Amino acid sequence: MSVKIALAGNPNCGKTTLFNALTGSNQFVGNWPGVTVEKKEGKLKGHKDVVIMDLPGIYSLSPYTLEEVVARNYLIGERPDAIINIVDGTNIERNLYLSTQIMELGIPVIMAINMMDLLEKSGEKIDIAKLGKDLGCEVVEISALKGTGIKKAAEKAVALAQSKKSAEVVHSFDKKVEDAIDAVKVMLGSQVPEEQKRFFAIKLLERDDKIVEQLNTVPDVSNEIKALEDAFDDDTESIITNERYVYISSVVADSCKKNGAKKLTTSDKIDRIVTNRWLALPIFAVVMFIVYYVSVSTVGDWATTWANDGVFGDGWHLFGIKSLFIPSVPSIVEGALNAVGCADWLSGLILDGIVAGVGAVLGFVPQMLVLFIFLAFLESCGYMARVAFIMDRIFRKFGLSGKSFIPMLIGTGCGVPGVMASRTIENDRDRKMTIMTTTFIPCGAKLPIIALIAGALFNGAWWVAPSAYFVGIAAIICSGIILKKTKMFAGEPAPFVMELPAYHMPTVSNVLRSMWERAWSFIKKAGTIILLSTIILWFLMNFGWVDGSFGMLEAEQLNDSILAAIGNVIAPIFAPLGWGDWKMAVAAVSGLIAKENVVGTFGILFGFAEVAEDGSEFWGQLANSLPAVAAYSFLVFNLLCAPCFAAMGAIKREMNNIKWFFFAIGYQCLLAYVVGLCIYQVGTLITAGTFGIGTVVAFVLIIGFIYLLFRPYKESNTLNVNVKSIAKAK
Ligand code: GDP
Ligand code: MG
Repeated sequence: MSVKIALAGNPNCGKTTLFNALTGSNQFVGNWPGVTVEKKEGKLKGHKDVVIMDLPGIYSLSPYTLEEVVARNYLIGERPDAIINIVDGTNIERNLYLSTQIMELGIPVIMAINMMDLLEKSGEKIDIAKLGKDLGCEVVEISALKGTGIKKAAEKAVALAQSKKSAEVVHSFDKKVEDAIDAVKVMLGSQVPEEQKRFFAIKLLERDDKIVEQLNTVPDVSNEIKALEDAFDDDTESIITNERYVYISSVVADSCKKNGAKKLTTSDKIDRIVTNRWLALPIFAVVMFIVYYVSVSTVGDWATTWANDGVFGDGWHLFGIKSLFIPSVPSIVEGALNAVGCADWLSGLILDGIVAGVGAVLGFVPQMLVLFIFLAFLESCGYMARVAFIMDRIFRKFGLSGKSFIPMLIGTGCGVPGVMASRTIENDRDRKMTIMTTTFIPCGAKLPIIALIAGALFNGAWWVAPSAYFVGIAAIICSGIILKKTKMFAGEPAPFVMELPAYHMPTVSNVLRSMWERAWSFIKKAGTIILLSTIILWFLMNFGWVDGSFGMLEAEQLNDSILAAIGNVIAPIFAPLGWGDWKMAVAAVSGLIAKENVVGTFGILFGFAEVAEDGSEFWGQLANSLPAVAAYSFLVFNLLCAPCFAAMGAIKREMNNIKWFFFAIGYQCLLAYVVGLCIYQVGTLITAGTFGIGTVVAFVLIIGFIYLLFRPYKESNTLNVNVKSIAKAK
């Protein structure tokens, strides 16, 4: 018989740290069905039949945030055999709010007071025997980070699960409230087991309409609610919240000894500087500059060059020693293919399609590893929480969370880790919005396109590159504002409640684990979706009709390829954007494999087998084939439209929902199209005085866009009790 134990607690109370310590590498990480909330399950070390579940961090069991819904549905629906309720000992009052609700579920609970190492330092004392007696459940002290007491906690939880002894609810609220609860308990009859009745009764009194789904017959409790509301002159939800805090205060007063005058901890001292009004942003800028500089420019650049030019390029020298030459992967594969006498088309597919395509993607891995180490470090030492806090005030204005900043910053290097970094955003709505907008920022692979357009059509004007970033940032801000006013993103604005955990030195294993989790999901993707798409595109580019017969083409015959045929069909779509030429359309499509491809494809289309990164060989030809406004529209379209397959794969994975994935990609393409069209139409009106149906459409679109941006919007004001209660606890 396997035993299921759930870890429940507030965000940042140390659940994941405890989970990692208890399960080691025995983990399974996935998502909760249909939502973007991460689900972590693992086996307790040394116990094959004990499954541990890391629930999302929540402040209450109200169904307001997605995390709360997920955690609550799991606890009510699946009923684990025991719950380890983790309580941040440095914040005990606020944490106990959730505890009082968890104990009502009628599931065996053991409370683990975490962060004991910090409590010991500050000299605070908790009388756990007394606390346990007051609360009606067993209490243990642990430090998840240091590993103290966790084994005992786990063993007690297992024993408790096997004994099936649930916590005894000892809290008693005001007499009137208790009477109402008792009355509702009676009405519930036998449809709910005795030990769960209190939970259901309270939820019914709180008018929690989601709880109704769990019941067969819903008792009418309106009389009880009305009586309470009249007696307390407040809504029942607030009344019960209040009762919980009254109860918690009494428990805490009884068993916790605060250490007289509160000393400033080292953490507080650091925060005084790091989150200081004036210093916060400059410090943050410096930190990010270092991270970015090291992971993208120096170490990362070196690693990527090594991977792209060495491992997947011309081979490399081990330790830089001349005699230790390691041939490149393509040449090894080529040798092997020749040795077995592989057919030409097949070796073409393997070499030019698979190895080149997947190799281009895998080439990013070393750089990503460097970046991920930094991020994991900043995250687990506690700095990321501060960053989110600092940026939140700014980002909130356009519907994003402070935590969205990190993904976007990373996105300037590569959209794939950028999108993946959005995982640190707990709130579902904020995360989706971030995933949708992160790739608007020009990534490293888009720079060659910018260089090409700037060089070929704008004489290398200085403003082209900055304008690309400006377009990206503007797209993010406008999208944020527009999307947040749509129904999909409406709903309770997620309050920014975030615990700032005490700074500490992260452990090497935690940093490496977090780095590897991210890198591995990227590598897996390269092996699946990217592999498939490169094969298809390779096929489309290399096969076609020459002189009436279908077959494989030479490199110069791209004009005859299936891709060209498709290009001809789709090119008219882009005519209103000023570049209805099939070559431009094909170049844009090839950008889907990797944005670097755009320049290379142009090269092939203009008859060059090899071109420089910025395609300087064919600047003249390109300049002759289209006006500058059209080229700029082409540039903007490529900046904003769907990213490369790798990034799309990341979007799909992080969205964890096919509808949202298509919505995100569709939105990006639509925005790119509309902006490109407006640029070209308005641009030609100004530069050449051309006026036509396209111009009218452009103006209609611009007006529509402005309307979407400025239309009135009522921020939902049902800011939930969640926030109120947290404010009270502070
Ligand atoms: P979760 O949000 O509940 O999963 O919390 P995490 O496990 O991510 O921990 C939040 C932060 O608290 C991290 O920075 C941890 O390193 C830190 N932390 C967790 N447990 C302890 C502990 O026992 N002592 C100290 N000092 N820090 C801890
Ligand atoms: Mg966690």
